[in-house]
Amino acid sequence: MPLDPAARAAHKTLMEEARTQTPIVPVPPEDDGEAAWIFDLDNTLYPPSMRLFDQIEARMTRFVMEALGVDRERADHLRRHYWQRHGTTLAGLMREHGIDPHDYLHAVHDIDFSPLAPDPILAARIAALPGRRIVHTNGPKGYAERVLEARGLAELFDAVFGIEETGFAPKPEARAHDLVIAAAGISPRQATMFEDDPRNLAVPHARGMRTVLVRQDRESGTGDAPRAHPHVHHVTDDLAAFLGQLLEE
Ligand SMILES: [Mg+2]
Repeated sequence: MPLDPAARAAHKTLMEEARTQTPIVPVPPEDDGEAAWIFDLDNTLYPPSMRLFDQIEARMTRFVMEALGVDRERADHLRRHYWQRHGTTLAGLMREHGIDPHDYLHAVHDIDFSPLAPDPILAARIAALPGRRIVHTNGPKGYAERVLEARGLAELFDAVFGIEETGFAPKPEARAHDLVIAAAGISPRQATMFEDDPRNLAVPHARGMRTVLVRQDRESGTGDAPRAHPHVHHVTDDLAAFLGQLLEE
């Protein structure tokens, strides 16, 4: 992705801060850039019914069992703890056990992509969004690109940010979001973020983005969700339909 020198410098600074754990510089209030659309990947750009993330979940549990020498029940307990305390299983393994992220990422994303089918309607609606289109995932970039390929979405995005691009800081951490905002040169007040995990919309909302919780086919009757999560502006259980409505506005 081409970056202008200012964005590259800002990204470099933020990557240094991510390494040294110093606070992130707040985004300035003046904000009149172009529109941007930031999409999570797993269970956002494909529905949970395709059961791709189930394969990754099973491999995460197996990795924890083997790396820490624990049984399945203990591994599942630890994964819940890491998810609550650190955001992801990987962040917990890195911070509490010094696990090499590359070994983990390779092991858990070595999956069968055949459950994914192309979605021409979703592709056409993403393609019609004016401005910059970005993917930000807590998975590795190479994995994200394979998912996009299998969904027929590969050519539609200006940039794909994986966990390596944020110095292994995961959403919902502020530094993960801020690194992507800086690296992609996003104006938060012109941006919309789509996510299936409501935790990952808190920082985008605080930065001034419009936030969309994508529930897809996991649940119906999610009308109470915005009240449950004040940082969620919109809830949809059909991303393609939501984008269709948005494009008509
Ligand atoms: Mg997701």
